[in-house]
Amino acid sequence: MTAMDAARQALGEVFGYDTFRPGQESIVAAILSGRDVMAVMPTGAGKSLCYQIPALVLPGITLVVSPLISLMRDQVGALIQNGVRAAYINSSLTPRQHALALQNARGGLYRIIYVAPERLMTDAFLDFAKNARIAQVVVDEAHCVSQWGQDFRPGYLQIEPFIRELPVRPRVSAFTATATDTVRRDIMRLLALSDPYEIVTGFDRPNLFFEVRRTGDRDMSLLRFLREHQGQSGIVYCGTRKGVEQVTRMLRENGVDAVGYHAGMDDGERLRAQEDFVSDRAPVIVATNAFGMGIDKSNVSFVVHYNMPKDLESYYQEAGRAGRDGEDAVCCLLYQPSDVRLNSFLIEHSLETSQLDEQTQQVVLERARERLKQMTFYATGSGCLRTRILQYFGERPGQLRCGNCSACLTGARERDVTREAGQIVAGVMAMGGRYGKATVARVLCGAKDERIRSRGLDKLSAFGCLKAEGETAVRAMIDELIADDVLETTEGDYPVIKPGPRAREALRGDEPIRMTLAEQEGTPGRRVSAKPSVDKALFARLSALRRSIAEEQHVPPFIIFTNATLRDMADKRPKNRRAMLRVAGVGEGKLERYGDAFLREIERYEEEQEFVKRKA
Ligand code: ADP
Ligand code: ZN
Repeated sequence: MTAMDAARQALGEVFGYDTFRPGQESIVAAILSGRDVMAVMPTGAGKSLCYQIPALVLPGITLVVSPLISLMRDQVGALIQNGVRAAYINSSLTPRQHALALQNARGGLYRIIYVAPERLMTDAFLDFAKNARIAQVVVDEAHCVSQWGQDFRPGYLQIEPFIRELPVRPRVSAFTATATDTVRRDIMRLLALSDPYEIVTGFDRPNLFFEVRRTGDRDMSLLRFLREHQGQSGIVYCGTRKGVEQVTRMLRENGVDAVGYHAGMDDGERLRAQEDFVSDRAPVIVATNAFGMGIDKSNVSFVVHYNMPKDLESYYQEAGRAGRDGEDAVCCLLYQPSDVRLNSFLIEHSLETSQLDEQTQQVVLERARERLKQMTFYATGSGCLRTRILQYFGERPGQLRCGNCSACLTGARERDVTREAGQIVAGVMAMGGRYGKATVARVLCGAKDERIRSRGLDKLSAFGCLKAEGETAVRAMIDELIADDVLETTEGDYPVIKPGPRAREALRGDEPIRMTLAEQEGTPGRRVSAKPSVDKALFARLSALRRSIAEEQHVPPFIIFTNATLRDMADKRPKNRRAMLRVAGVGEGKLERYGDAFLREIERYEEEQEFVKRKA
């Protein structure tokens, strides 16, 4: 069997996947052939497998240098679930645990060891490494080595001297998601990669749906968004700590189980918020950009930006935390013109305490302004959102409309609104032709304020009948109906809406009414999805089972199985262990651990359904 055959076998048996994703196969092959690797892959592309599979095939130990404790813990947890012997060495271990881990490592107990960069050059670690067979050194989040990168970490500069200490130079591979040309060159130089296999895989994330909601009322837009995504888990990013606190409170008052997270909170509170979110106890986390790096939760179904960030780099990195499990996910940006003013202000004051000379300052500011301009184009333009992002990152997308973003889907689309028009006319009649456009829209959308309640408008049967459309869309429809003589508006300071000459026709709906609505908030059910619909009840049962197992073991649910795996399981409904192995994400380790429990749950579900059918 060739090494590549062994790699393919490990992909299926250990990780439970049939095929490599783009880029993975060539990287695995390069590492197996003994080459160094410099790989730039977007978040969620599947970097870990690229070095974990060679780690299982190569004789010897793989060391993975990683910047964050939480990241190491999750990775090692996931590996152990898959039956791979792995451990981490970092400052979270007590001296005793540390000594024990090294002793085990010396005894050849581990295939993969995650290590913090600061540990590499310690006597104890060097002593172990020099006497072991190190087959591979992996540098994760490799941009941390570069001072040009946003997360420079001095400890990373010890990696290269460490490698030089080893009696036999292992293959070295560097991985990152965020690298410009400068940073990439820096990485290869500072790690002294020798003739590395270089690969930059595409930045496109086809499973992400991008949308921008230009809104007059962020809170309303956010609540509507969350209603459309009820039962899902996601992140709401705010521009400031104060924003985090306000939005968290607002969501709680509206019955959303949200936790807040920002760097100003005390450690215990912050950790609790993070754990509530990662373990699926709290579906929504409201956070500043301090949250995210190193949080390895794969089933994030949406990321909403309550404020527009300062550039597309930040936006794409934060939004990209959605859908890492490959499931469809949504990235929604709420936009108001005040976002631009605030960001401009921050940019202009960003260098006040800096040591840079005047000329350099001007250059830095100029670049920051240009980036903000590009971000603003994204938020206000009418073209395809995905195309704009990819072009910004220097790619040339094949087509200019992706069909999976709000601009492609809702940009001036004609639709049949015969039914809605009838409802609007009926509402205007019921309200006696005595109210203005805004009030009519509010009543039809079910807004509850004092004015509406005191006049008994909330008792009308039309109250709330167009809630799903949103007020902006209803107001736009009213404008169209006025233009069509279905409604009319009075003159004067307080114009009111009355039925027009063609109101009866519209009410009867004998002629279809079509409208081209320029822009709409909220487009539930409009997303194109490549995935077949799944039996929701079964999926819910499987995910409840996953949650109870996760709680028992004190690990996050996605470490047991990802959403993509549960979906595939609900779809394939395996009846035995062999069939269970065909579910994507079920390898032999997980089959052994959880296969039977999930098989039983599926069987029970089918029996119950059978029973219900027979009774009916
Ligand atoms: P990255 O580190 O690049 O952000 P991960 O390595 O965490 O991404 O992988 C993201 C998700 O994709 C994980 O849930 C992982 O199990 C899954 N994945 C990786 N490779 C494959 C594959 N070949 N087929 C299916 N799923 C995969
Ligand atoms: Zn598009």
